[in-house]
Amino acid sequence: MKRDKLFIVSAPSGAGKSSLCERALKDFPELEDIITSTTRQMRPGEGPGNPYHFVTVEKFLELKRNGYFIETALVHNNHYGTPAHIFQDAWSRGKFLIMDVDVQGAATFRKFFPNAVYIFIKPPNIDELRKRLEKRDGAHSKDLSVRLQNAIKELELAPLYEYQIVNDSFDRAYSEFREIIRTTIQNNS
Ligand code: 5GP
Repeated sequence: MKRDKLFIVSAPSGAGKSSLCERALKDFPELEDIITSTTRQMRPGEGPGNPYHFVTVEKFLELKRNGYFIETALVHNNHYGTPAHIFQDAWSRGKFLIMDVDVQGAATFRKFFPNAVYIFIKPPNIDELRKRLEKRDGAHSKDLSVRLQNAIKELELAPLYEYQIVNDSFDRAYSEFREIIRTTIQNNS
């Protein structure tokens, strides 16, 4: 089967999806990242366009009304949206796109791009996920419990994905991830 040049990666918050995607972007020059838009607050170390276009709720809703997004979702009480124009832009340059979306986004993309490669990253268990989120966002972060509750719901949807990778150790998980990307690029270039 000829695949769409698109990797859709989902995971509960804190499962390590961003690190896997970042490493793959360094290792494969054929890959390009999709920068999506969000209304959430920036975290320390983040900036405009890294890893999102950070916009106000008003701006987001205006872009949405104007048809700028191919899909939008409310995730952990914040808006996220994927610009529509980026797909053809990247594909016309022969690139493979990698994008990180929540389970709702992946469900929408399955309708538009049924031949994309769908990958779900799982934490080893919920306790480990809690520890990683506490380390990243602080034990008293107000959305920690929202993210953990959502994680349980998201994990139930993992079987809908073609590939599921348990991120127990970064190196082991990455070698699985890299292999999926390598063979897809090789077979679809
Ligand atoms: P975070 O705020 O932790 O960076 O991301 C929260 C969640 O939003 C993640 O599951 C991420 O995959 C998802 N996300 C990021 N951009 C988009 C998007 O454009 N659409 C959808 N549906 N989800 C997104």
